[in-house]
Amino acid sequence: MTSKQPKKILLFFAHPDDETSSCGGTISKYSRLGSEIFVCTATNGNKGDLGTGDLVLKREELGSFRENEEKVVLKFLGAKKVYQLGYDDQGLELLTEFVLENQFFDILKNINPDIVITFGERGYSGHTDHIETHISATNAFFRYIKVNPKKNIKLFYTSMPKFFAEFRNMDLSEAEKSPSVAIDISDTWKNKVTALRMYRSQNDAQEIAKMFETVYSGNYFENFGEAKDQIISIFEKLKHYGYSTNPTEYFHQAYPSLKKYNDIFLSKTF
Ligand SMILES: [Zn+2]
Repeated sequence: MTSKQPKKILLFFAHPDDETSSCGGTISKYSRLGSEIFVCTATNGNKGDLGTGDLVLKREELGSFRENEEKVVLKFLGAKKVYQLGYDDQGLELLTEFVLENQFFDILKNINPDIVITFGERGYSGHTDHIETHISATNAFFRYIKVNPKKNIKLFYTSMPKFFAEFRNMDLSEAEKSPSVAIDISDTWKNKVTALRMYRSQNDAQEIAKMFETVYSGNYFENFGEAKDQIISIFEKLKHYGYSTNPTEYFHQAYPSLKKYNDIFLSKTF
C-alpha cells in the first residue's frame, strides 16, 4: 500500500447491491491496493424482486437471501466487513428520528475511517431509503468530525458527469452532477459486472451488469445512438478536466466542501 491510498473506507448504503452498482469497481480496486473497505447496509431489501432466471424466491425469505448475496459479493470484491442493519425495505423514513443516524455514528466511531462514501441529496434514484441514508449518514459524519476535529477525513457522495445525468433526464442535486473524483476502474470493472450478476435475486443488478458490459466492451460512443456526435464533442471539451472514456466511477467531495462546482478538475484518487 502506498501512502496515497486511504487506509479505511466506509460506505453507507440503503439496499444490498447499492454499494456494488455505484462503487463495485472502486471497492475491488482499493481493496487490491490495500485499503480496508467496510460497508454498512441499512435495509435487507425485502421488497425487491423475487429472483431472476430460474431462481424463484418467497417474499418472506427474500431479506435473508439478499443479505447472504451481499456477504458473498462483498467477499468477492475484497471488502473487509459488512454491517447489515436489517431494516425493512422502504422502511427507513418510518424509523424514529436519530435511530439510523445513531447507528451510523457508532459504526463511524468503531471504524475511524479516512473516507466515507454515501448517496447524495437525491439518493441517485430518488428512492426514499436512499435519501434517508444520505441524511442519516451525512448527519452522523458531521457529528463524528465534531468529536474528532483533528482527524483527516473526507466525505464523498456518489456522482455522475452532468452531461450524462442530463442525457438520461435524471433528477439529481448539483453535487450529484458535479463529480470531483473519477476512479478509473479499467482493471476491476469486470469484477463489478461479475459481482452484479451474483445478485441473482435482483433484476436491476442484472440490467446494470448488462449495461456496463455493453458500454465498455464495444465502442463507447455507439451507446449514445443519435446523440453520439453531440456526446463526442462534449467529451472533447471535457478531456481538459480529466474526463475519459475508460470505465469510471464518479464521486463528489462533500467534505471538506468544494468552493465552486463549475470547472472542477477531476482527481484520479480520493
Ligand atoms: Zn437501493
